Amino acid sequence: MALRNITIRGDEILAKKCKPVKEITPRIAEACADMVDTMLAADGVGIAAPQVGIMKRFFLAMPHVDAEDEETRDRVYVMINPEITYKEGTQESSEGCLSVPGYMGLVDRPYKIRIKGTDLQGIEHEYEFEGFEATVFCHEYDHLDGILYSDIAKDMMTVEEYSEILHELEELHAGDNDEEGSGNMEIWEKKKEKERSNQ
Ligand code: ZN
Repeated sequence: MALRNITIRGDEILAKKCKPVKEITPRIAEACADMVDTMLAADGVGIAAPQVGIMKRFFLAMPHVDAEDEETRDRVYVMINPEITYKEGTQESSEGCLSVPGYMGLVDRPYKIRIKGTDLQGIEHEYEFEGFEATVFCHEYDHLDGILYSDIAKDMMTVEEYSEILHELEELHAGDNDEEGSGNMEIWEKKKEKERSNQ
């Protein structure tokens, strides 16, 4: 297990467009193995090459956080030279990033995407994702173009504020039977409400 240093917002590497991978070398395979370890150690669901200082177009994603079975939950996608081939609909997503520690942001994303890319064996795959999974792939893909979610977020707050509001909402909804709720989005509504009442 080898952990790599995670590049933090402010480093110009994160703002640059990455170059295509010309050949899948052992160095790239080794970087991917280290990136899995680094992502897991940091409790992330995705990590892109520039986040470990490599200016090449590849990323890893582990988007099935809510899957029932462990095998699906643990699945890591390696996407080399990825391309988003289709986008449909819109969604608002709450996002964090290993390169922007301590913050959460509200971002507009497509609801559904198709994305193709090559794995470490050089085999091309095309996948379709929606909801949270689509968000993870769009977020990681953006890193390859030098875009951080914080560059495009409509709203941001600290992780402390986020968990505080989450806690408040949980107390507010304690006893409610409906499991649906509006989930994460209610947090951003609540934040706006608080800002209004503080003015
Ligand atoms: Zn990120």
